[in-house]
Amino acid sequence: MIGCANLKCKGFCMLKGLAISPGYALGKAYCLKHFQLDNVPARSIGAGEIEAEIARFSYAIQLARDEISQLTRLPQIRNSLEISNIFNAHLTLVDDPDLKKEVVKRIRERQLNVEAVVSGVAKDYSDFFRSLPDPQFQEKAVDVMDIGRRILKNCQDKMHMPGFSDLKEGVIVIAEDLTASDIVSFDTTKVLGLATAEGTATSHAAILARSLGIPALVQVKNLIQVVEQGEFIILDGNTGTLVIKPLNDVVEEYRVAHAAFESRKADYRATLTQPSVTKDDVKIRLCANIGQPQDVDAVITNGADGIGLYRTEFTYLIRRRFPTEDELVDIYWDVVQRLDGAEVVIRTIDLGGDKISHLVGHVGEKNPEMGWRAVRMSLDRLDIFRTQLRAIIRVCARCDHGNVKILFPMISNLGELRRSKTFLGEVRAELASEGIVVENKIPIGAMIEVPSAAILADKIAREVDFLSIGSNDLVQYTLAVDRTNSKVAHLYQPTNPAVLKLLHDVIVAGETRECPVSLCGELAGDGRYTLLLIGLGLRALSMNAIFIPRVKHAILSLSIAEIRPQVMAMLELDTAEEIDTALSKLNAHYGLS
Ligand code: PEP
Ligand code: MG
Repeated sequence: MIGCANLKCKGFCMLKGLAISPGYALGKAYCLKHFQLDNVPARSIGAGEIEAEIARFSYAIQLARDEISQLTRLPQIRNSLEISNIFNAHLTLVDDPDLKKEVVKRIRERQLNVEAVVSGVAKDYSDFFRSLPDPQFQEKAVDVMDIGRRILKNCQDKMHMPGFSDLKEGVIVIAEDLTASDIVSFDTTKVLGLATAEGTATSHAAILARSLGIPALVQVKNLIQVVEQGEFIILDGNTGTLVIKPLNDVVEEYRVAHAAFESRKADYRATLTQPSVTKDDVKIRLCANIGQPQDVDAVITNGADGIGLYRTEFTYLIRRRFPTEDELVDIYWDVVQRLDGAEVVIRTIDLGGDKISHLVGHVGEKNPEMGWRAVRMSLDRLDIFRTQLRAIIRVCARCDHGNVKILFPMISNLGELRRSKTFLGEVRAELASEGIVVENKIPIGAMIEVPSAAILADKIAREVDFLSIGSNDLVQYTLAVDRTNSKVAHLYQPTNPAVLKLLHDVIVAGETRECPVSLCGELAGDGRYTLLLIGLGLRALSMNAIFIPRVKHAILSLSIAEIRPQVMAMLELDTAEEIDTALSKLNAHYGLS
């Protein structure tokens, strides 16, 4: 999409991958070789050494726990829900009783050194997760290897994690794959870019790279075979290109593009204090998505208008037991209070799909994305639903200004919506009989993330106070493309004409029924799509707070009267490629990328 488009004709080596974090990097390749867990030498130990080996293991675990806890306090981790979740999951893994039991058992039974046993157990667990069909477990396999390496490193004082600490200059890291721990272990000022042969756009490493603002590519074919240690390369995180042995004029072209990109980043930061209004004076609400109270810091620093999506399921995912009603009240109240009267849209739990909770017995579903999740699960487990709704209503009763709203996820028919609303009414009455009364209306919304809901948006809009389009799932279900599967990633097309048509229909339904529509999937935070979404008629977006400045920059540059006809014309195009080309041209016209 960005500059340097004439590269193809210049006859040097160019590899293609999937761009997962935008920007440019020009520098030397640093080819990272992980030590392999299966190459750890085994040594027999005598019966008298067993307890000492177990003690070394306990010490290594303790150290791993301390290291990870320290990582979770780093601002770049603390400020992002997604990243803190990764490391909280690592903490849970380090303390996994089965894993510990297995290591101790093998040290006793096989009488081997702790390093050999830890590497064996980590490898077996990881292979097990990798063999499961659910992509969520593939990521867990990577986490287990990550933890295994960390414990191993702590068993062997002299062995250190494949290291970035030794880097003397800025480099582009090249690896088969990277874990979240790899990335946080480096000094970010020394890493200009990341490219891996494996990985997906939604992997933990990808989320981290984006949050840290490091340009990155995944799934670069032949990467390891082609790139040599120390050679000069260029990484283009906008088009998914890696240029090897570039000619001087290409380097120059990229230097210009890189400088322009960096200065745009400065422009984005400058928008922080400005209201998000288009050139023709239309206010666009820019809200933030959060998953836990810690995320509120980033919401405030990035000047969000409110919280457009509070994903409440994370509270359930990071615990070993259900949160109590009082705990939930404390958590929600903390968020609401810090938002100081601004809107907070609390989505009821969307457990299931790629957020599998062992608390509710999700294991074993063949097709969890289409299975027992979100309101489907809540309406079957009214005990869990009641606790959450009671907590939300109690928070509404404390502030009672109508700015706390309730959003139901994965609505796929009107029956589900009506049952959810009726149950909410019953819980509210129950609380009123206990003296906890909400005087004002509590606004109710429905997520539009299943094609049936998009098709029925007009009917749904008549029964709710607002609609929120979940583009992540809407794209997935409309195109039948698993959003986490790298093999079909090229088919995950947010600009597929079918998706655009549904978006437009939902927006029109909202306008007709005077029911505000917002969009809260990843699309909302991707500045390349801002013109498209606003041109289609959206006036509210909700995204990871770190993306607000870039999106606001786009909004400040556009005039709806100008872009509207061009976006409407895109609805007539036949393919995602045609729409992408038209959108790139429109973005270029406004100096956006
Ligand atoms: C979506 O599907 O776009 C959405 C916001 O929900 P989640 O990503 O939590 O599934
Ligand atoms: Mg969703």
